[in-house]
Amino acid sequence: MRSKNHLFSGKVALVTGAAQGIGRAVALMLAEEGADVAVNDIQKEKGEDVVATIKRIGRSSIFYEADVSSFRDCEKMIDTVVKELGGINILINNAGIVMDQLLIRMSEDEWDRVNEVNLKGVFNCCKAALRYMSRQKEGKIISITSVAAQMGNIGQANYSASKAGIIGLTKSLAREFASRNININAIAPGFINTDMTKNIPEKAKQYILSLIPMERFGEVEHVTHAVRYLASSASDYITGQVINVNGGIYM
Ligand code: NAP
Repeated sequence: MRSKNHLFSGKVALVTGAAQGIGRAVALMLAEEGADVAVNDIQKEKGEDVVATIKRIGRSSIFYEADVSSFRDCEKMIDTVVKELGGINILINNAGIVMDQLLIRMSEDEWDRVNEVNLKGVFNCCKAALRYMSRQKEGKIISITSVAAQMGNIGQANYSASKAGIIGLTKSLAREFASRNININAIAPGFINTDMTKNIPEKAKQYILSLIPMERFGEVEHVTHAVRYLASSASDYITGQVINVNGGIYM
């Protein structure tokens, strides 16, 4: 049942890459706070599990299997969300991949694929969603970038560049759509415990921990708290910003 006390009652959200990890936690938080939530991913089974959980919370939800690197698929996805859930108020660009390799060994395909998913995917979903948001003169877009965009990281030339691109894209779109009452921001997590970070070799992990003032990796909830703030009216006068959720590794 929808309660007026919930932060996102009456809102429709789309979270990309929401079958697991940060995206899943964000999708569930938005549903707990009253939003109807569309779950996107390329992992069908896990994505449908998230939808089932959202429905148990009592919200409407659909799973949309799509690769965010395809503009046409993103357009169709947003049209479907609007048709089936009744609108689009909140877009969380979360889908992302790594294909780590020292530059000397990085293939053109590894460069292209990471940028197509991580950066072009954000462009695709923003462009498709902003058609609706600009008409309704209201919306919140939050894209998940990374501390790697700000500090660089050995073996992540493709990933760091794609995530730095998200920051430039966010600032440009924030300027373009500010007068339409649309807030467009980014969150830059540091190292968060998910599948993406679980295979970091122990020696590298110890080195990373030595750089984090808070001496630990973050949890997905640390990111969802920042999303909750940026998706809510509490942040109505904030746009074009990057919020760091990183235990102090980059200040
Ligand atoms: P994750 O556990 O790997 O989850 C990402 C999800 O996105 C996976 O289900 C993945 O499917 C899906 N996905 C991959 N390519 C896609 C595509 N083309 N279209 C739609 N969905 C796609 O990652 P996470 O750790 O939760 O990270 C979420 C976001 O936070 C990413 O953008 C990541 O770069 C960013 N981030 C994470 C950390 C961290 O420490 N975990 C730090 C900074 C930023 P597959 O598993 O099949 O690829």
